[in-house]
Amino acid sequence: MKTIGMLGGMSWESTASYYKALNQGIKKSLGGLHSAKICLYSVDFADIEKLQQQGLWSEAADILSNAAKSVEAGGADFLLICTNTMHKVASEIEAAINIPLLHIADATAQQLINDNVKRVGLLGTKFTMEQDFYKGRLSQHFGIDVIVPNTGQQQAVHDVIYSELCLGKINPNSREAYLNIIADLQAKGAEAVILGCTEIALLVDQTHTETRLYDTTEIHASQAINMALSNS
Ligand code: GLU
Repeated sequence: MKTIGMLGGMSWESTASYYKALNQGIKKSLGGLHSAKICLYSVDFADIEKLQQQGLWSEAADILSNAAKSVEAGGADFLLICTNTMHKVASEIEAAINIPLLHIADATAQQLINDNVKRVGLLGTKFTMEQDFYKGRLSQHFGIDVIVPNTGQQQAVHDVIYSELCLGKINPNSREAYLNIIADLQAKGAEAVILGCTEIALLVDQTHTETRLYDTTEIHASQAINMALSNS
């Protein structure tokens, strides 16, 4: 079994979901007392969030590149960046290490392609919904059309992530708001909706809606398990 490298802490609420999913997946595949081999570097999210707000992405990339080097030195065979948003600096992190990066958008796109989904809604932070590093990758590399919420809805989704979910607060009113936005995306033509922020599944899951949801945390973890167990 390969050792899974994780850049976590963004936020630790979702890193905990990854940790659980990775261990459950390995246990399911190998049985008994098997658990995932993991090397995790968990950052202080307050530092990263401040740099995001200031638009200082290359400073954030430096912190994460150094953390990734520690993960590699700790014996990881490949790396997961356990947040969609910080994939904005994925190429800088990738350039700093000699182990492969399992990109969260590629993992998600693979699942969408397997399920023949061609037009998808995207929820995430404002950075993820507004900018091109995530939705551009889905459309340019994989030919998947991405629909995002309107500006007001984007702000609402973003605020819930930073003011509630990353702090471990689960608010039923916010769930309602998210479900309305998901319904709106479907009305605009989305065949499914990507939960493109690793905390969103703490609030909304498939039991809350008939719209097909793609939880990036679960998908990323599940592909990491396959990679950890593959011989190549
Ligand atoms: N975990 C979130 C994501 O997947 C947001 C936190 C962050 O800014 O990294 O985008």
